Amino acid sequence: TEMRRPLIAGNWKMHLTLAESAALARTVRTDLKETAVAEVVLAPPFTALSVVAQELAGSPVQLAAQDVFWELQGAYTGAISPRMLQDVGCRYVIIGHSERRQYFGETDATVNRKIKAVLTVGLQPMMCIGETLAQREAEETLAVITSQLTGGLADLLPEEINRLVIAYEPVWAIGTGRTATPEQAQEVHSFIRQLLAKQVRPDIAYGLRLLYGGSVTPDNIKVLAQAPDIDGALVGGASLKADSFLKIAALG
Ligand code: PEP
Repeated sequence: TEMRRPLIAGNWKMHLTLAESAALARTVRTDLKETAVAEVVLAPPFTALSVVAQELAGSPVQLAAQDVFWELQGAYTGAISPRMLQDVGCRYVIIGHSERRQYFGETDATVNRKIKAVLTVGLQPMMCIGETLAQREAEETLAVITSQLTGGLADLLPEEINRLVIAYEPVWAIGTGRTATPEQAQEVHSFIRQLLAKQVRPDIAYGLRLLYGGSVTPDNIKVLAQAPDIDGALVGGASLKADSFLKIAALG
């Protein structure tokens, strides 16, 4: 993992007012150790991207959006384009989060379109994949991961895939307090890397950052991050409190 800088991203989901967002971003920026090993990323709701960008200006903390539409502009009422996200100061865009798949009809095909659109403006997609509890119990985990990866990455060039961050987020672990064990997560991370090595290119597979997501806390980040193929975390609930997020950002 030496060549992969760990990445800790906070997904604020549908939480926080502008004032709360600015305050949390400011505390993270101010209290993050200059010696921090991990790259730190904040993903506020769309409404707060601008104020958070202002708080983070000149700091190493990076900005992400939680979703995007695949067209660059046009008559798409309610949608936000990759160009708008670039304009507001994002570096990353979360794509295909399980909540988008569950509540908003996101599919591997829409994930694929969004990844391509985001790449055209130079932003970095953070693609989320992961199995449900029923799929894990039916021993379909690796098949689900394979089809989500294959569908999400369809028609992308190796050089484009090289721009991605991939987050493995077992749906049964998101917001449930039921974290995957380091062994469970490592098994899937290692599988993802091997699949990419075979289907894309070994050097790209070994350079890509694979994040774990699902009930990450200050108490479990350390053992998770020690697993050889886990390169950081996508953090939901625990990213809303500065003290717990900063502990996670310090990798426990
Ligand atoms: C997430 O939303 O990506 C997530 C992992 O949430 P939580 O940390 O709350 O389980």
